[in-house]
Amino acid sequence: MKKRVLVLNLDYSPVAIVSAQKAIVLCLMDKANCLSTYELLQIRTVSRSFDYPAVIRLNAYKNIPYKGVILNRNNLFRRDQGVCQYCESTKQLTIDHVIPRSKGGKSNWTNLVTACHRCNVKKGDKLPEEAGMRLKREPFKPSLSYFLANYAQSSAEEWLPYLSEKVVS
Ligand SMILES: [Zn+2]
Repeated sequence: MKKRVLVLNLDYSPVAIVSAQKAIVLCLMDKANCLSTYELLQIRTVSRSFDYPAVIRLNAYKNIPYKGVILNRNNLFRRDQGVCQYCESTKQLTIDHVIPRSKGGKSNWTNLVTACHRCNVKKGDKLPEEAGMRLKREPFKPSLSYFLANYAQSSAEEWLPYLSEKVVS
């Protein structure tokens, strides 16, 4: 997986996570400065190569409305730490609607969980209680800080010095 870049606002508060390409463009356009790079990694373009940015800081304060973490497959797996929320398996992961769609269950953070193929089939069109299954943890809408801390701890230690204790805990 390509490493992502943490973007800090002028006041050092985390505002976004972007691709390395996007981060380099922001720096080249003088909209941001690179604060930290991933050691030993490089980004190559046709004509030159760059140090791989890990953390950048915007040169002007941006009032960025917080839109929340995007609900998609990868982010859902990440929230659930890559384990089936019924049996904790890490294999053949898929997405389960806790309240099945046929019973009016919605596709949102609080009704979707990571489930392995086996549990998904076993549960079928039933509620967890009806299928005799139990969720390890109630599904929740994750905050940006939850994601940042999670991501930093698993794949971007370079971010840790820039995340406040409030964010990391
Ligand atoms: Zn399972």
